[in-house]
Amino acid sequence: MGRMTEIQYADSTVNPVTGCRGCELWSPEKGGTCYAAAMYTRFAPAGTSFADIHLLPERMQPAIRWPALGPGGHPGKPWMDELPRVVFLGDMTDVFGAGVPPEWLWAHVVAPVLEAGRHNWLVLTKRADRLRRFTEDQDLTWPANIAVGTSVTTMAQSSRVRHLCRTPATLRWVALEPLLGPMDMEAVAPPGQVHWVVIGGESGPRARECDMRWIERAINHCSAAKIPVFVKQLGSRPVVRRDPRTVRFLGVKAKGADWREWPPALRVRQMPWLRGSVLRAAKLV
Ligand code: SF4
Repeated sequence: MGRMTEIQYADSTVNPVTGCRGCELWSPEKGGTCYAAAMYTRFAPAGTSFADIHLLPERMQPAIRWPALGPGGHPGKPWMDELPRVVFLGDMTDVFGAGVPPEWLWAHVVAPVLEAGRHNWLVLTKRADRLRRFTEDQDLTWPANIAVGTSVTTMAQSSRVRHLCRTPATLRWVALEPLLGPMDMEAVAPPGQVHWVVIGGESGPRARECDMRWIERAINHCSAAKIPVFVKQLGSRPVVRRDPRTVRFLGVKAKGADWREWPPALRVRQMPWLRGSVLRAAKLV
């Protein structure tokens, strides 16, 4: 939780839940590359597991009351300049994950955010099926200041996008992160149903390759469909693969988040809520 975050498309983060039961990137039995699980394992007391779910509702009210932000309030993130404070809800967990009771989530997290009507919020889950059921059970349509999304790493998880698209919401987003394979962009970003796409390669010591052509293809699709797109990072192992034998690694530092190192065609950082400002944001490159 923090009023400040390095995440390039948010100002702040809040995690009213800690722990997660896992996904394709990490499981209690096999481990994996999940950053939140790695941080937990590094600093948590012995004998505990990232799979243990803890509910921390007391974190929500301070976040809701954080001061408003406006123009000039997003240092180092000029693509957010016209936005209010953007809070990422649950960047180190999955608030719709197994083990988080939906009635608790409504009472202590979602209802207070809706009632306050402050800030813009980003909600991201790998359990889009649970997000959809939660939304239908509450007879809710997510308002415009709360963007709800799901993340997919390969086409094997595309059913998440189908659940997302059936979730009543004003603004839906898909995170292709970490991007681990080519995407059928018609399936993962249907025009008119998905309103923002974030793309990023995998980072960390066990990062897998991310082919820059996968990213370029996703950008081109979004551009043609007028879907704002945000390239977050190229990952620790960005490659250009012409055929199985011809691979060129791009030289980037750490997780490849400095867009000055990127091929020009990939330098795109557009935000949702700013449709009219997409061109202005693109000109920042
Ligand atoms: S759902 Fe998110 S927090 Fe949970 S294991 Fe997967 S990547 Fe980590």
